[in-house]
Amino acid sequence: MKKIIIIGGGFAGAYIARQLESEFAVTLFDTKDYFEFTPSVLRTLVEPRHLPKIEVPHQAYLQKAVIVRKPVMEVADNKVIAGGMEYLFDYLVIASGSRYTVPIKEENIVIAARGRDLQQWAHQLEKAKKVLIVGGGIVGTELAAEIVDRFPEKEITLVHSKKDLLDRNPRKAKEYARRFLQQRGIKLIFEEKVIDTQKERIPTAKKYITNKRGEIFADLAFLCTGIVPNSEFLKKNEKISLAESGFVQVNAHLQVANCPNIFAAGDITNIKEEKTAQAAEKQAEVVIDNIRALAAGRKLREYASKARPMVISLGKWKGILVYRQFVWTGFFPGLLKRLIEWKTMHRYR
Ligand SMILES: Cc1cc2nc3c(=O)[nH]c(=O)nc-3n(C[C@H](O)[C@H](O)[C@H](O)COP(=O)(O)OP(=O)(O)OC[C@H]3O[C@@H](n4cnc5c(N)ncnc54)[C@H](O)[C@@H]3O)c2cc1C
Repeated sequence: MKKIIIIGGGFAGAYIARQLESEFAVTLFDTKDYFEFTPSVLRTLVEPRHLPKIEVPHQAYLQKAVIVRKPVMEVADNKVIAGGMEYLFDYLVIASGSRYTVPIKEENIVIAARGRDLQQWAHQLEKAKKVLIVGGGIVGTELAAEIVDRFPEKEITLVHSKKDLLDRNPRKAKEYARRFLQQRGIKLIFEEKVIDTQKERIPTAKKYITNKRGEIFADLAFLCTGIVPNSEFLKKNEKISLAESGFVQVNAHLQVANCPNIFAAGDITNIKEEKTAQAAEKQAEVVIDNIRALAAGRKLREYASKARPMVISLGKWKGILVYRQFVWTGFFPGLLKRLIEWKTMHRYR
């Protein structure tokens, strides 16, 4: 049996491992020992009992694949190095995704510790009277909505460097989100940046300074300012080309440039599209087909990047569905997000 190594057990890696474990000798490397439905993590900060619904240990859905909970430190032509050991592959899939600030995404952690950490954050949030959210993209907006929905009495400030919430989305979506937060008393500060951005101080400091000399006082702050690709471990391999931003350059078949037996899928690729779970799964499907095709000597498929519908949740019951310029707001889009969570997790149970 040909050997496949998959680096990363997120939306792309977990899906590929599950689909290919019966046909190939699959080894999944992940820094965590579980799959997590990241889009619902924000809900668990206000409702920690939701956590078991969005996490599943890799060993629960993988029957044959070998699971190694170690970070891959290096990739060579036909092997990866992890924990000081070498592991050979015929095909490699880089699905190491991206990182975000704690507690929204965590690495190097087991499922029990993740539960404890999130519980602690939820407890701190419950105690906090004043909360600061830095960043008004999708994550910052969703988090603000979750907090105000669950704790309407808290004093919440959201600082965003742009003119409005939800950059890159149609005007109707921005307006709906802005109204949702403002009507619930959230103070929105636009075109301003929190410059006291030492990440390790952010969760504990009480006073935050902005570039316009504004002062914001908060018991707890969340930094929601964008993703960073997990590609440091690839830098020693000169054949694997990384874009300046750190994302992996792939061709139309999702092969890493110059490395026909190495594929990449998910947030880690440099494909110009929204970095979403949906896109990660669509790319995973192409990688699955192409590994099968490569093994059988068939022609490879191309990945077609395109706009896909996206659901932004606003608290427990409201949401916004955006598809190109089409915007649908209210209860049903909110419900849709719950259905997507249920459908995804159902697949891994
Ligand atoms: C708060 C939030 C809300 C979101 N909401 C939505 C939404 O509503 N809809 C949507 O479609 N998308 C949403 N997204 C985006 C979505 O979560 C990501 O696009 C998706 O998780 C990408 O999947 P992935 O498999 O590429 O990578 P990831 O999910 O990042 O998984 C990568 C895995 O690789 C592991 N890893 C990293 N480096 C190594 C290494 N060296 N060795 C071994 N393992 C490694 C990581 O620990 C991780 O387990 C949201 C993201 C966030 C942060």
